[in-house]
Amino acid sequence: MKHAILSIDQGTTSTRSIIFNENGNLVKSFQKESNLFFPKNGWVEHNPKEIILQTIQTAKSAISNIKNKVDAIGITNQRETTLIWEKKTGNPIGNAIGWEDIRTSEYCTYLESKNFTSIIKNSTGLNINPYFSATKIRWILDSIPDGQIKAENGDLCFGTIDSWIVYNLTNKKLHVTDLTNASRTMLLNIYNLEWDKEILKIFNIPLEILPTILPSSYNFGFTDPKIFGYEIPITGIAGDQHSSMFGHACFEKGTTKCTYGTGAFVLTNEGNDPSKLKNTKLLNTIGFQLKQKTFYATEGSVFSTGSAVQWIRDGIGIIKNPSDTNTISEYTKDNGGIYFVPAFNGLGSPHWKTDAEGIISGIKRRTNKYHIIRAALESTAFQVKDVVEASITSSNSKLPIKVDGGQTKNSFLMQFQADILDRQVKVAKVPETTALGVAFLAGLKIGIWNSINEIKPIVRSENIYDPKMKSSERDSLYSQWCEAIQKSSLTVK
Ligand code: ADP
Repeated sequence: MKHAILSIDQGTTSTRSIIFNENGNLVKSFQKESNLFFPKNGWVEHNPKEIILQTIQTAKSAISNIKNKVDAIGITNQRETTLIWEKKTGNPIGNAIGWEDIRTSEYCTYLESKNFTSIIKNSTGLNINPYFSATKIRWILDSIPDGQIKAENGDLCFGTIDSWIVYNLTNKKLHVTDLTNASRTMLLNIYNLEWDKEILKIFNIPLEILPTILPSSYNFGFTDPKIFGYEIPITGIAGDQHSSMFGHACFEKGTTKCTYGTGAFVLTNEGNDPSKLKNTKLLNTIGFQLKQKTFYATEGSVFSTGSAVQWIRDGIGIIKNPSDTNTISEYTKDNGGIYFVPAFNGLGSPHWKTDAEGIISGIKRRTNKYHIIRAALESTAFQVKDVVEASITSSNSKLPIKVDGGQTKNSFLMQFQADILDRQVKVAKVPETTALGVAFLAGLKIGIWNSINEIKPIVRSENIYDPKMKSSERDSLYSQWCEAIQKSSLTVK
């Protein structure tokens, strides 16, 4: 091994430190499960000190288990999760508010009622939602005595998890973030790439508490030598979905990646021209920035994909393991006209129907549990197709879709996905695509790779699925799915 890059992947449920070499191969990986706190209905919190402890512990294990010195660090993280700390002491003010936390729902409804929706969408690319950081910052400032005054005096720092990790690894020297994380705060103008003063006014958030925004591949600074025994440059930062897009080498306009887990996240590279970002059904966001060229992306978040499989296992008990769905679907001739819309928490992109309810449609006398199992699996592929159809360039593209995550182990699902999209589906060889992406961003900055052209050949696929279905069958299945989607919204009173 000539080079070693340490990727820190701070996720919702775990913190991982992974060493990659110059061939993009995973050399060592260390992980700690994180605690989540649910103090009230709809509230989700993380302990900021635990995040730092686990980051340092896993990173130290990775560093001490290789012979090389680490050349650079890349940091990728759960996005939107918000915390505020005191500038002087570095002490966090309470727990971090997790991305799933919906405590600010009412505030969001209020903002919509005041007609801020289009101002915010036109600048930040995002729909008003508790998911993003802005309303969480407001909530924290209002929850402490003199929060607003302290913020205005510059005594407090806001950060997403990347900022928090860098602040700690540099011993309070740097208060920074990267463009991709900034693009999920609902405070960044994604066209001029600066904090938007007009939007800050809407939330009454002082500029003083915000981190400096930098590109994702950049010389951010060095870790404090006391932490790892020597200083290490931090040269890559990206939010998890953006990092995974980079790890899949989605460098060209029209390329799409999908990460399948509990839900699915679909990002499409929409190229350099922000004036083309007119889409309202998907989120507009920064894909990545390289050599001062910004690539934009559309993002679709599907709330329930793997969770439909969990539900048929735990909710109605008709399978024992998620992998049972694979063989059962293969041996079940067709879906028997059953369409399962798993709108457990409403429908996300591109439908955005918060009140939609889950339905199983098309039940007849001959319907059996195997049809329902197959329909649960098929719902993942249909939902991903809905997002791809709504994206600007991907809907017309025939480029392969690059995929990773837990559900990609299911060969029936992957084949069905290729059939329904009528596009090749390529499963990533390195399952840790998220961590790999930021390793590439960090390595590019220090010259391990000189350009993305050197990265493309080392991003490989393990399994490739070619579309085989006749177009008449595809059209018929998809139109029945679209009818089922309509029905799931009709259930709303
Ligand atoms: P997350 O990162 O969201 O926790 P993972 O990438 O670990 O998710 O994937 C787990 C999800 O994938 C679970 O919801 C599970 O039901 C689903 N899953 C795992 N294995 C399979 C499989 N072989 N077939 C279908 N679904 C699966």
